[in-house]
Amino acid sequence: FSSDYPEEVDLPPPTELKPSYDVVIIGGGGHGLATAYYLARYHGVTKVAVLEKAYLGGGNTARNTAVIRSNYLTSEGVRFYAESVKMFKGLSNEFDFNIMYSERGQLTLAHTDATVRAFRQRAEVNKHFGGRTEMIDRQQIRELVPTLNLDPGHLPVLAGLWHIDGATARHDAVAWGYAKEAAKRGVEIHQLTEVQDLVIENNRIVAVKTNRGTVKCGCAVQAIAGHSSLLMRKAGIRAPIHSYPLQAMVTQPFKPFLDPLVSSSALHCYVQQTGRGEVVIGGGSDPYPLYNTRSTLELKEGLLAHAIEMFPFLANAKLMRQWAGITDITPDYSPIMGLSPVDNYYLDAGWGTWGFKSTPICGKTMAQLVASGGVVPDLIAPFSLARFSTFRQVNEMGATAASH
Ligand code: FAD
Repeated sequence: FSSDYPEEVDLPPPTELKPSYDVVIIGGGGHGLATAYYLARYHGVTKVAVLEKAYLGGGNTARNTAVIRSNYLTSEGVRFYAESVKMFKGLSNEFDFNIMYSERGQLTLAHTDATVRAFRQRAEVNKHFGGRTEMIDRQQIRELVPTLNLDPGHLPVLAGLWHIDGATARHDAVAWGYAKEAAKRGVEIHQLTEVQDLVIENNRIVAVKTNRGTVKCGCAVQAIAGHSSLLMRKAGIRAPIHSYPLQAMVTQPFKPFLDPLVSSSALHCYVQQTGRGEVVIGGGSDPYPLYNTRSTLELKEGLLAHAIEMFPFLANAKLMRQWAGITDITPDYSPIMGLSPVDNYYLDAGWGTWGFKSTPICGKTMAQLVASGGVVPDLIAPFSLARFSTFRQVNEMGATAASH
């Protein structure tokens, strides 16, 4: 795991907002910045503004636990995330900037016969689409993660889903890399610029209203993760989304003891060690919808009890930080991407607990969608908003790292 830090990122100084742009991208997280980058670099579309209400990558891009993987359940999901994992591997070269991509493998634990059966299916679907995923037994798990307790309380580990492609990357560096490469090609990035309303005429978006004035646009993309339904409502679109806080925490640093990422949805917990030696612990969402990124004692106690079941020595660890982001949960745990009922208003939404790993492929496909004037790329066609009215959901609930 590389301990190099990315070098400093130079972005152009802030400028005045122009009265109009060809494309306005709402949200300066990884997804919005990636969309701007692929538009500028691969489609020559550079009259683009990314409008960010706070600071670059300060939303869920900065708050996630940086897990990258493609071992999903459905063929639509695996195809999509596998392409993203492939793109992640080349990002440092593409940016000439170290995103600290680190392939360490992800191990998901099965504690029941039903989970073993489901994992077998996931392994086969994953292999079919070129992923490296296999079932492993207790002895193999013991060799891979000697510090793991294989017999936690009432839930002994029966087998594991070993996803060799599982990886992490430094999430801020991903946002910074996209930002610097987009800005270099003429994209304007405006921080502290909140889109407060949308101006729609004849079913087309013609402008966005911000705290810095109104900006006209040829089309707009919304990529605002945990707040998607709020802007969709302003566009008159009903979103099948409930927004929940998702918390995570990190301990003091330890000497390296854990290379793979380890997760157990039965224990609602996943654990990984960073390049700095800290142990990152993540789990399920808070149990009620809320727009608030406070940390709670209740979550801390519940999650740590499970983390200690997995790695008993953590009972002596000190926590350094705990934080939360707002995640948009859809009924099938898949995103909502592509066209919206408003002709030139494009959606990169419904990013719940699963959207960091998809950052490159979201940017690439959203840029294709915008540049083509609304031709939906095959990879994202299954994630249309319309699937909820045609009963074609892409159910990935069983493939989340912790149950939500
Ligand atoms: P964001 O980074 O949230 O960017 C959206 C931006 O839009 C924000 O910067 C926000 O300020 C801005 N914005 C909002 N409203 C407006 C407005 N009206 N006008 C202008 N700007 C606006 N995913 C994984 O794949 N792996 C993980 O391990 C993982 N772990 C997670 C752990 C936690 C604790 C959390 C909270 C999430 C996790 N996720 C994970 C999910 C992942 O972080 C998100 O799905 C992903 O980062 C979404 O990226 P984004 O660019 O769409 O959103």
